[in-house]
Amino acid sequence: MNLSGRFFLMFLLATSLNAKEVVVYSARSEQLIKPIFEAYTKKTGVQIKFITDKEGPLLQKLKAEGKETPADILMTVDAGNLWLASQEGVLQKIQSKILEKNIPKHLRDPGQFWFGLSVRARTIFYNKDKVKPEALSTYEALAQPIFSKRLCLRTSNKVYNQSLVAMLIAEYGEKKTEEIVSGWVKNLATDVFPDDTKLLEAIHAGLCDVGIANTYYFGRLLEKSPDLKVGIFWPNQKSSGVHVNISGVGITTHSKNKAEAVKFIEWLSSEEAQNLYADNNMEYPVNSKVKVDPKVASWGNFKQSIINVVKAGELQSAAVKLMDRVQYK
Ligand code: FE
Repeated sequence: MNLSGRFFLMFLLATSLNAKEVVVYSARSEQLIKPIFEAYTKKTGVQIKFITDKEGPLLQKLKAEGKETPADILMTVDAGNLWLASQEGVLQKIQSKILEKNIPKHLRDPGQFWFGLSVRARTIFYNKDKVKPEALSTYEALAQPIFSKRLCLRTSNKVYNQSLVAMLIAEYGEKKTEEIVSGWVKNLATDVFPDDTKLLEAIHAGLCDVGIANTYYFGRLLEKSPDLKVGIFWPNQKSSGVHVNISGVGITTHSKNKAEAVKFIEWLSSEEAQNLYADNNMEYPVNSKVKVDPKVASWGNFKQSIINVVKAGELQSAAVKLMDRVQYK
């Protein structure tokens, strides 16, 4: 190789070392993440590359790629999924005072392998023509005979419900939780639903009077049909609070760019980025200094459970077995 060729190679090497870039594997959809990633690039010059897929395939991909993975960050929904990723060894510990300051303790992994960036509540919805909110109180009350043939639930295959039941186990223990979930199953108005949106539509149509779903599905439906006959209710306000879950992130075990990835995650938790991150999906910011989107705020204030969401993972298999025992399909 002649001298100029050698210089050219060195130049290539130098630019590739200097071109700062973070690669994200995201189970959060492109429309939600792209504007935020672009804002970060504009601010810092750091390129954020990403691919999107469902959480299962992304985890498999990370495992299969091992050391060769180009990914620095895994971004996904539900603490149950983040916990599983850390169990599978694809995430590494993050030490960050900024993340610890910006994100409340119950919304991040005590082992520091993953951190929540937005909050979704899994709460009670009701048909406004058929149910007075005064008739509602707690998750466990939905197991009472008064709700016989009136309750709708999404399938127990979905991690959201596995996490909810796991969090109930964390709060009440297995025995009481089994009574509650078995009561829910007895009260079902119809077969379980494949997703939260179909469940909310069934409440609107009067097929069921009450049901449990994530808040942002309600928000999306409300945007489409403002005359929705579905009301939102915040249960357990005199006790432990509404069950919440997170969308969040971790840094991959084989990240080649950990320092940049940490900086990026820290920015995502900042006051500057939190609205961008949460509002697009009608979620709640994790950073308590940040105001909730006005649309979301219009659903009212509530007290949330502060049991650490890591329990959704730790008790996931107990929850799945419990739901199976009471024939929650
Ligand atoms: Fe969802």
